[in-house]
Amino acid sequence: MAIRLFNTMTRKLEEFKPLVEGKVGFYSCGPTVYHYTHLGNLRTFLHNDFLKRMFLANGYDVRHVMNITDVGHLTNDEDDSGEDKMEKGAARDNKSVWEIAKFYKDEFLRDYNDLNMLPPTVMPHATDYIQEQIELVQKLEELGYTYEIPNDGIYYDTSKFVNYGALTGGSLSGNRAGARVDFNDQKRNPYDFALWKFSPKDAKRQMEWDSPWGVGFPGWHAECSAMSMKLLGNHFDIHTGGEDLSRVHHANEIAQSEPITGAPWVNLWLHYSFLLDKSGEKMAKSKGEFLGMDAVRTRGYDPMVYRYFVAMGHYQSQLAFSWETMDATAKSYANLVRRVADLLSAENETVDIDVYNKWHDDMVVAISDNLKTATVLVSVQDFIKSDDINSATKLALMKFVDELLGLQFVDRAEKLVALEQESAPDEIVALAQQRADAKANKDWTTADNLRAQIDAAGWTVLDSKDGYKIVKKA
Ligand code: AMP
Ligand code: ZN
Repeated sequence: MAIRLFNTMTRKLEEFKPLVEGKVGFYSCGPTVYHYTHLGNLRTFLHNDFLKRMFLANGYDVRHVMNITDVGHLTNDEDDSGEDKMEKGAARDNKSVWEIAKFYKDEFLRDYNDLNMLPPTVMPHATDYIQEQIELVQKLEELGYTYEIPNDGIYYDTSKFVNYGALTGGSLSGNRAGARVDFNDQKRNPYDFALWKFSPKDAKRQMEWDSPWGVGFPGWHAECSAMSMKLLGNHFDIHTGGEDLSRVHHANEIAQSEPITGAPWVNLWLHYSFLLDKSGEKMAKSKGEFLGMDAVRTRGYDPMVYRYFVAMGHYQSQLAFSWETMDATAKSYANLVRRVADLLSAENETVDIDVYNKWHDDMVVAISDNLKTATVLVSVQDFIKSDDINSATKLALMKFVDELLGLQFVDRAEKLVALEQESAPDEIVALAQQRADAKANKDWTTADNLRAQIDAAGWTVLDSKDGYKIVKKA
């Protein structure tokens, strides 16, 4: 099936062509673990997960690398200035940098699992790849792309890289007329960035390493170039991240990598649009009420409701978050779960293969066409309400939807049925048991009468391989 994705580099919807037939390698910029991950970050990670599931549905062998940034990300990305976000977070929480890295990484993984995202094939930490980052800077130094600013660090000279900034609309040569005056006036060109920062002379940092240039730590962009090359090779298929990363972080990653690997280093760049807050601004950690998965859980929403909300949007459009929208989404999700719960008794029916294949293929076509997850959900609404499709086929299709979108409909439906069963009143449980006994004695008339009584009381007995279940009627 043809796969089409929007490549930020060419600004075109392109047919995806893997470097190696049947395989896809993709790198995603992961979280900086200095604070909880907010719903905006998680939107980006969810789109990675839809991307991965789309490839799996197309039979690809997927290698996904997502890093954990635990060093080097400064508060001002544009200038490589300000404080290290990790050291700042550690001071705020009154913990060591290593402690907060572990704490927020574990919190991130909890959210990641709650949202049912498939684990990355490899999840490298920047601090485990310091040697590779030093080697990257050494190679760039040998090739003549670097210079030193005394008492500051080793910098990348963007004027040496002709295609600098190509990702966001053409060359941004470092000497471009009219470029804004930069904070660091010792840089040769405004867009130059740090490859290695020196530790301050008068203070010891919690995270610092020896290097050929002196004790210090890597610039934030170095980790993604070094780790992706190491774990995916010098050329790989796709690189992803939120829309904010294309202008600085990814421009710098390309400038660091292509002198070493040759161009193109990455075949396709995928950028996901922002989640906005209620006031229409980019959701961020520092603004207003902190909106993360804790807020979602505390308010009693199933994490799947947030996943469903993200799946209803498209990655190229910004999406506004509000609790009102979450309420509407929760209703819609619950309606589908109820419908799936009512299908669970269909275990003894047979799946109509032709009907199954038609809907299955329609959904794979939709998601392969630039990740149209919302179109898949329209199909779900259509087939689940159709009178022409039997329950077993609908249930089989919902199992496939769960693979494709990870929305756990069948799991939640089973839990709903179990919960309802627990809450069935004693007299209904007793009638159901009498019915089971009558069936065991092949007394079909009594069994039918008992079923009718249970039905009249608003309950249904569902027979299954392992016995029976009692569910409340819809
Ligand atoms: P960070 O933890 O800040 O390094 O960000 C992790 C990922 O979340 C990056 O790919 C960012 O581009 C992305 N991101 C940050 N803010 C938002 C937002 N409001 N909506 C969607 N993605 C975001
Ligand atoms: Zn990155």
